[in-house]
Amino acid sequence: MDVPEDAPVECPVCETAYDSVSVHEGGVMVNLLDNDRYRRVCFEPTTHDGRAVVRFYHHTHEQIETENGSHRESAADSEHDG
Ligand SMILES: [Zn+2]
Repeated sequence: MDVPEDAPVECPVCETAYDSVSVHEGGVMVNLLDNDRYRRVCFEPTTHDGRAVVRFYHHTHEQIETENGSHRESAADSEHDG
């Protein structure tokens, strides 16, 4: 868990709980295809000490599944109509 002091409680991009925040000043490569811990990363351009930076909000699989947990049951009970 590495979160800047002024980071919000929820991700400012998708308004979902996140696990950690990382701050980047230069170019970065992101590959989550093989990541067992994180499912999604949101990017927020901001400034730190007057420098342009990008914050990465890391969401775990559990956090994303909690967000969408109530949507699954409705789709399973569909019927043909017409
Ligand atoms: Zn997010």
